[in-house]
Amino acid sequence: MKVMSEKGSFGQFGGSYVPEDLGKVLGLLDEQFERYKEDPEFIEEFKYYLKEFVGRENPLTFAKHLTEKNGGAKIYLKREDLNHTGAHKINNAIGQILLAKRMGATRIIAETGAGQHGVATATACAIFGMDCTIYMGKLDTERQALNVFRMELLGAKVVAVDAGQGRLKDAVDAALNDLVENYQNTFYLLGSAVGPHPFPTMVKFFQSVISEESKKQILEKEGRLPTAVVACAGGGSNAIGAFAHYLDEPDVRLIGVEPAEAPSLTEGVPAVIHGFKCLTLLDEEGNPKPTYSVAAGLDYPGIGPEHSYLKETGRAEYVTVTGAEALEAFQLLSKVEGIIPALESAHAVAYAGKLAQELDKDDIIIVNLSGRGDKDVQQVYEMIKEQ
Ligand SMILES: *Cc1c(COP(=O)(O)O)cnc(C)c1O
Repeated sequence: MKVMSEKGSFGQFGGSYVPEDLGKVLGLLDEQFERYKEDPEFIEEFKYYLKEFVGRENPLTFAKHLTEKNGGAKIYLKREDLNHTGAHKINNAIGQILLAKRMGATRIIAETGAGQHGVATATACAIFGMDCTIYMGKLDTERQALNVFRMELLGAKVVAVDAGQGRLKDAVDAALNDLVENYQNTFYLLGSAVGPHPFPTMVKFFQSVISEESKKQILEKEGRLPTAVVACAGGGSNAIGAFAHYLDEPDVRLIGVEPAEAPSLTEGVPAVIHGFKCLTLLDEEGNPKPTYSVAAGLDYPGIGPEHSYLKETGRAEYVTVTGAEALEAFQLLSKVEGIIPALESAHAVAYAGKLAQELDKDDIIIVNLSGRGDKDVQQVYEMIKEQ
C-alpha cells in the first residue's frame, strides 16, 4: 500500500492508498475523467439524461407547514426524492456510466450495502445496455432480498459475497479484485464520495448538479442565498453535491448531519480505510468500527475526504441526530407536508427543525431531501410497533 500521488488530497485527507495494479487502473480513470469533464458533448449528454431519464430539474419546495410548526427560519426542500429511482444516487450512476462508455467499457461492476446504490447502478446499466454485476455481502442479500430481486429485474447479476462477515466491506474487496482482473473491459461504479482518488472528486462533480440547481432556484424565489444548507452525511455524496456551489460563499453555513450512532466526523480520527484517508471511527485494535444506524445509507465508519477537510478547516459544521429524532422527523414531514422522506434524509430534516427555531424568520434553510421513504415504510412500521 502506498500513496500513488498527491492528487486528490484535501489537506491531510484523501489520496490513494492502493496496491500498484489498482493504482494504474485508477490513474487511467483519473486521466479520462479530467478529459471528459471539460468536453461539452459529454456534459450535454449528461444533462440530457438528467432531464429526460432522471426527471431534473427537481423542485426546491417551500415547506410551509414545517416552517410554521418550528416558528423560525423558512425551510426549503431540495427534492432529490423526486428523481427516478427515488434518490440522488442516480445522478452519479448516470455520470459514471457515460464516462465508462467513453472509456470503452462494456461491463459495469459495483458494490452495494442495503441495495440502494446497486439499484441505481442496475437502472443506469439497463438504459445503456451494459452488462452489470453487483457485489453484495451475503448477509445483506438475505436482509434485502427484495432489492436483490429488483436489481435482477433490471437485468443485473447479483453476487453474494461469502468472504469475511458478508457485509459491505467484503463486497467492496470483491469488486476491487474483479476490477484489477478485468480492467480492460470493466468499469467500477462507486456509489459515494469516498474511496481512492479520483472517486471523491468525480462523485462530487456529478452530484454538484444539486447545488447548481438549488442556488439558481433560491435566487429566483427569494432573491438571495440561504443562511444554511443542511444535508445528511453517510459517505457524503449528497452533502458534497448540496454544498458544492456554496463552498465559495462564506456567508452560507454548510451543515452535515451524521447519525449519532455512526459519528465519523464528530468523533473520528484521521486514518486510512478503503484506500483513502479520512476521519473515521476505529475500534481498540485500530480497525474500522462496526456502526449501527436506523438509516442503512448512513451506516459507514468513515466519511468522504473532502468533508474531513471541511470539518478540519471549519468551513462546514457537522452535527449528530439520533435514530429516534430521525424517526420523529420522518413522521412529521409525512404528516404536515405530504412527503415521506428516506430515513437518511429524515436526519437532515430533524436537524433543520432545531436550527430553524434558533434562527430568525427572515433566515432561509435549504434541506437536501436526498431520497424518498417508500423503501423505509416497512421498517418504520416495525419500529413504531415496538415502541
Ligand atoms: C445512500 C443514501 C444516503 C447516504 O449516502 P451519501 O453518499 O452520504 O449521500 C443518503 N440518503 C439516501 C436517500 C441514500 O440513498
